[in-house]
Amino acid sequence: MTFVDEAKIYVQSGKGGDGMVTFRREKYVPRGGPSGGDGGKGGDVIFVANPKINTLYQFNHKARFLAEKGRPGGSSNKTGASGRDMVIEVPLGTIIRDAETGKVYADLSTPEQRIVLLTGGRGGRGNARFATSRNQAPNMAEKGEPGQELWLKLELKLLADVGLVGMPNVGKSTLLSVISNARPKIADYPFTTLSPNLGVVTMEYRDFVAADIPGLIEGASQGAGLGHAFLRHIQRTRLLVHLVDGTAKNPVADFNQINAELSIFDERLKERPQIVVVNKLDLPEAQEQWPALEQKFTALGYEVLGISAATQQNTRKLVQRMFQKLDELPDRVQVLEESEVPTYEISEDVVFHVEKLEDGLFRVTGKQIERAVKMTYWELDEAVARFQRILETLGISEALEKQGVRVGDTVIIGDTELEWGE
Ligand code: GDP
Ligand code: MG
Repeated sequence: MTFVDEAKIYVQSGKGGDGMVTFRREKYVPRGGPSGGDGGKGGDVIFVANPKINTLYQFNHKARFLAEKGRPGGSSNKTGASGRDMVIEVPLGTIIRDAETGKVYADLSTPEQRIVLLTGGRGGRGNARFATSRNQAPNMAEKGEPGQELWLKLELKLLADVGLVGMPNVGKSTLLSVISNARPKIADYPFTTLSPNLGVVTMEYRDFVAADIPGLIEGASQGAGLGHAFLRHIQRTRLLVHLVDGTAKNPVADFNQINAELSIFDERLKERPQIVVVNKLDLPEAQEQWPALEQKFTALGYEVLGISAATQQNTRKLVQRMFQKLDELPDRVQVLEESEVPTYEISEDVVFHVEKLEDGLFRVTGKQIERAVKMTYWELDEAVARFQRILETLGISEALEKQGVRVGDTVIIGDTELEWGE
């Protein structure tokens, strides 16, 4: 059955390291040639499809993923170390969307598929790089380029690996609630469960999805009862855990009836691996029947386990067996109904916007210019002069003048306030 698992996460690539201003020390020369190195590149945010991970469950616990910053440049033209990438492993079949716009960035549908979603900022250039014949000792450098950030929605469409089947009231819902994070309704009468419940079963960092398939009753394969719609879901599970009630009058007959229903619906279900679980072993009637039941099911060629879902007797062992069995079986089939074409690159907004907030106060927004602000060393005159040239080149100065900016006014760009000069 298709099970949509979702998570919302925040990712950020690393800021580039700052470029340095240093000068070589030379004998008899007060200030030698420029030797400030470049900053290192910030780490990328990378997603990798790992077929061994089955759910997005882990993202409930951790939702912020930040790549490392690049290190600043050093003297003697030393480039700073690059920041480490943030590699996020997600289940095969994960679709990555923009949390705000819903736009699809990636659809990780092949094992080990990797995408670099956000690149780290480049390192700022050190002063060595700004030397020209006219300016041989530039007191000028760039700060590192900021990283990028995004809120993402991860979506996983997968199939339940394990289906819990059996007559009404055998304890399917109880078992699911004991072994997984699902909290299905449990009641004393049949047909309480109207929709299949799904739960994630975890053990030592591994997990799988189990579904409680309700309403399998006589005639279900002909569309009678609640079972029919749910039978369709069972077709896609890899393993069936077939529960019988150890206190029932004839558990083997119940078992055969359910199997008959399954195979009438779909012949191939006969071949689906089954673990037989005799439940309610905490009750004396079940304990009495258990040895004979174990023998009968074993003779029929099944692996059989006695448990009590209510007291959790042997349920851990059952979970271990489910993991082992799934390991032996072919990998899950992913259902991807995604028609949108993923676009990997995050579009760069080159346009800027100038807004007059009040008399003498303006705000400029735009990715490029906001980045330039962050890369400028305001304490270095040459760096400030360069920033002014960027304002000219992008046409921002002109736009501000059109809106009536005057010397001494305040211009806010990003998180920096600037005083408008000559
Ligand atoms: P389902 O219809 O197969 O989902 O069965 P439920 O999980 O709703 O359980 C039916 C009834 O059996 C409920 O009253 C449960 O409390 C009870 N039950 C389930 N497992 C056990 C068990 O291991 N021991 C005992 N004594 N009762 C159980
Ligand atoms: Mg139930």
